[in-house]
Amino acid sequence: HTAERYAVVTGANKGIGLETVRQLASQGVTVVLTARNEKRGMETISKLHESGLSNVVFHQLDVLDQASILKLAKFIQEKIGRLDILVNNAGVSGAVVDEEGLRALNIDPTSWLSGKAANLVQGVIKHTVEKAEECLNTNYYGVKRLTEALLPLLQLSPAGARVVNVSSLRSELRRIPGEHIRKELGDIETLTEEKVDAILRKFLHDLKENALESNGWTLMMPAYSISKASLNAYTRILAKRYPSMCINCVHPGFVKTDLNWNTGIMTVEEGARGPVMLSLLPDGGPTGCYFDCTQVAEF
Ligand code: NDP
Repeated sequence: HTAERYAVVTGANKGIGLETVRQLASQGVTVVLTARNEKRGMETISKLHESGLSNVVFHQLDVLDQASILKLAKFIQEKIGRLDILVNNAGVSGAVVDEEGLRALNIDPTSWLSGKAANLVQGVIKHTVEKAEECLNTNYYGVKRLTEALLPLLQLSPAGARVVNVSSLRSELRRIPGEHIRKELGDIETLTEEKVDAILRKFLHDLKENALESNGWTLMMPAYSISKASLNAYTRILAKRYPSMCINCVHPGFVKTDLNWNTGIMTVEEGARGPVMLSLLPDGGPTGCYFDCTQVAEF
């Protein structure tokens, strides 16, 4: 039984999360599929069971809800007693979109990838303060809260746990115009969680003051970008703190899912490859790294 591995995947009722569950379970990992919505989660589990994957169980998890996080941690503590793999996949875009208007624009995938679409989509994608706060709370603070709650269980993994934070190319520091922001988030020697908090407070302040552009924030999905850049920073801080684990972040690719209003170009099968590879890293594998799909890349 020592070779048996247990994983938690967040936001796994659809998209890349669901496919990550499918691939991990197919490779013999016992997976706790989590979703914030009980009904959607149970329906997903039923389909997986029907398809022959029996080593998948459901547990509700809303990463915005501390009580829900603690319930999950308790469930794993009582049923399994440890955790080997955590895939922090749940995420939101931080924007309000007029989907029909967006489709009518028929934007080229390369414009999305380069960030040129930022100008094109101004009329149809809106970045409100409310959505920005939800985005930072989900993509950054949600990951932090859940990881902190599960760390005592991850530390019990005999081979050293694997933590995979699903990030985005939008997090890449070269895409952030402000040099001071790039420097602070990119300097692993001096990075702390308090520094990340301060950067996020400044970001929300500048958003409220309508001063994103003049203060060096990116205009292509600003809250999303900074949430994921912060997630990468947290990944590096954690990797330093827990050297016996493999803790990495990954851009899954530009995948066709609801998150990007189905503008993506890759399949979920392709998108789950990076997260799955990092979940199953051999002992002594890389840690504290950022991957573009399955390749190590620059933060
Ligand atoms: P989806 O929108 O298909 O999936 C997102 C999942 O996150 C859903 O299951 C959603 O649940 C869940 N979620 C949102 N908020 C919460 C919450 N508070 N608690 C728990 N679960 C929550 O998008 P993707 O599969 O594309 O996204 C997966 C990850 O990949 C995200 O972190 C995203 O940022 C990242 N990513 C995706 C890219 C792409 O091209 N698709 C590119 C780069 C990164 P519900 O169904 O209830 O809404």
